[in-house]
Formats: sequence, C-alpha cells, structure tokens
Amino acid sequence: PIAVSRNYSIATMGADGIGPEVVDAGVQVLKKLQQLDGGFELEFEDYDWSSDTYKKTGKYIPDGGLDKLKKHDAILFGAVGAPDVPDHISLWGLRLAICQPFQQYANVRPTKIFKGTSSPLRNAEHGDLDWVIVRENSEGEYAGQGGRSHRGHPWETATEVSIFTRHSVERIMRFAFETAQKRPRKFLTVVTKSNAQRNGMVLWDEVANEIAKEYEDVKWDKMLVDAMTCRMVLDPKSLDTIVATNLHADILSDLAAALAGSIGIAPTSNLDPTRTYPSMFEPIHGSAFDITGKGVANPVATFWTAAEMLEWLGEGEAAKKMMEAVETVTERGIATKDLGGKAGTKEVTDAVCAELEVVY
Ligand code: ATP
Ligand code: MG
Repeated sequence: PIAVSRNYSIATMGADGIGPEVVDAGVQVLKKLQQLDGGFELEFEDYDWSSDTYKKTGKYIPDGGLDKLKKHDAILFGAVGAPDVPDHISLWGLRLAICQPFQQYANVRPTKIFKGTSSPLRNAEHGDLDWVIVRENSEGEYAGQGGRSHRGHPWETATEVSIFTRHSVERIMRFAFETAQKRPRKFLTVVTKSNAQRNGMVLWDEVANEIAKEYEDVKWDKMLVDAMTCRMVLDPKSLDTIVATNLHADILSDLAAALAGSIGIAPTSNLDPTRTYPSMFEPIHGSAFDITGKGVANPVATFWTAAEMLEWLGEGEAAKKMMEAVETVTERGIATKDLGGKAGTKEVTDAVCAELEVVY
C-alpha cells in the first residue's frame, strides 16, 4: 500500500494592507488545529511579495519566484492593492500573475449567514442563504484582450474583448455541475446575459445544455444576470450553486457577501482542478487600507479560507471542526465591528483557538 502523505507545505503571502494581519491570524488558528488534531502536518513558508516590493523593485514577483511557489501544496493569500498603485497594475502584477500560469480556472466562493450574525435582508437568517458561486477564472471579460488607439483625441477608441472558448466553458460547467452534485440540494443555476450578448453567452447556454446531460441527478435552471441580482435579494432560499462568467460572478459574489452580512467573512478558492499546480486560497475582501494596522480586521473570512484549503488538501474533518469553532464564536457575539461586535482581530482569533480545544 502507498502511504498517503499528510504533510502539507503551505506558502503564505499576506501582501498588502490588512492581508498580513488576517493571514497571521489564519496561520495561528491552523497551527492550533494541527496541534490538536495530530493527524496531519503543516509547514509554512512566507513570501513577502507585495505592492511595497513593486514600488522598490518594479516587480511584484522576483525572477524565478513562480518556480519556488510551484513546489507548495497550497497558497494562503491575503490581499493585494495599495492606494498609490493603480488597481489594474496590482491585480495583474500579483494575483492574476499567479492564477493564470497556475491554471486556477475555477474560482469558488461560498457564502452563508453565520449563526449569531444578521443579514441586511429582512427576515433572512442562518440557513436561509447558503450558496456557492463558481466563477470562470481564466478568460471571459478579464482575458486582457483589447487595446486603445488615438489616445487623447475625441475619437479615441478602447476595446475590451471578452474571450469564451468551448474548452474553458466546458471545463467550468463540468466543475460547477460536480460542485452542485456534492451539495445536499444538488441544484445549479447557470447565469448568462444571452439575450444581449449573442456570441459568448449563447455558447455558455449551449454548453450548459450539453453538460447537464452528464449529471442527470443535478437539477438546474438558467438566469440572466440582471434578473439574478433581484432573485438573490428577493428569494435567496431558491438558490444553491451558481455558475457565471469571470465578470458576472465577480459582481454577484460581492452582492452575495454583502447579503450574508459582511465582506469580512467570505472566502475564495482559486483552484486548479487538475492538481498540476498549487491552488490559492484567499479572503474575498481587499486590502482595506482604511483599517490597516488598527487590529480590527475581521479574520473570519481567512478562517473560512483556511478551512476551504484544508478541505482541498483532503483534511475535510479538520475543516469541519474549524468551521464549527468559528460559528460557535460568532454565535456568542465575539465579533469585529463589521459584524456588529466590539472585538478586535486578536480577540476573535484567540476565541476560535480556545473553542477548538472544546471541539477536539
Ligand atoms: P479591492 O479593490 O481589493 O476589492 P476595496 O477597497 O474595493 O478593495 P476592501 O479593501 O475589501 O475593498 O474594503 C471595502 C470595505 O470593507 C472597507 O471599508 C473595509 O474597511 C471593509 N473591509 C474589508 N475587509 C474587511 C475585514 N476583513 N474586516 C473588516 N472590514 C473589512
Ligand atoms: Mg473591491
């Protein structure tokens, strides 16, 4: 028999703003979990790539950096973006510079209302909103194709071309049906804008019809993205797993995070489902410079992120215990200001560590 290694090498990269604060909190909780569990081993290696590195050296990623990063089993990422670096430079310089070569084509964003927290939706409470948004993460509207001509003239023209390939649409659709299949409700909603965009979005519709035949136990429906925003607000219980393009899912998942109560709780997984490269796990929120260094950042998104990472590595039991501890803490009202509480990052982190002792 082949011994399955349960030693995992994790690259940590806090990057900008509150990124390093929440990643530190995540590592603290993961170390506690590993110690209590005793069944698996995590080794952390920190990478200090950030907008500061960019400002000093002109590069986010040093030469040969990706080759080093490639050797890890997973990447725990904070946030990238600084007030004095244009967003499109920081995003393409670090986050997408990892996602694209590492073929992390599936971006998975679960959202739910935690026990003890409230949603801005009237009458919605824990259990009423429990979604997973699957975002196409390799092409579409963010393919980076296009250009500008006649700069500065009144007739200046810019094109931003969306790319949809059958190969990529099929693989994300299959991934979405599989995600839906693993969840209790086995229900998928495919989001497009195929009434107005008649090429790429119609391809999405066609591929959805084809792939659906491979997953006969999964129920599914189609929505236009504009109508989808209404349904998320008016009928959250009617949704479960959702698949959408790079741009649409980006917008829908911010809405989802807000409806769940705070942007400070939701995680994102950038997955290479072929497992050729390490996958990257990050909280959905940005670098939040308005609260950086104040010790008030909500670490819950990073805890959930860490749980998603454990699940991906095959440590589903530990992931479940982590989430149990986190929800007990939120239920008790130990929460940061964005969730209506008074606690700081450290208090929430310590409370989760203490709760893990009880859970184990
Ligand atoms: P990006 O462009 O990277 O998404 P952004 O500036 O649009 O960044 P965030 O950095 O996510 O968005 O911040 C949006 C708001 O949410 C800010 O007011 C910020 O303080 C708050 N926020 C974000 N993350 C957290 C968190 N973990 N805890 C508490 N508040 C947060
Ligand atoms: Mg933002």
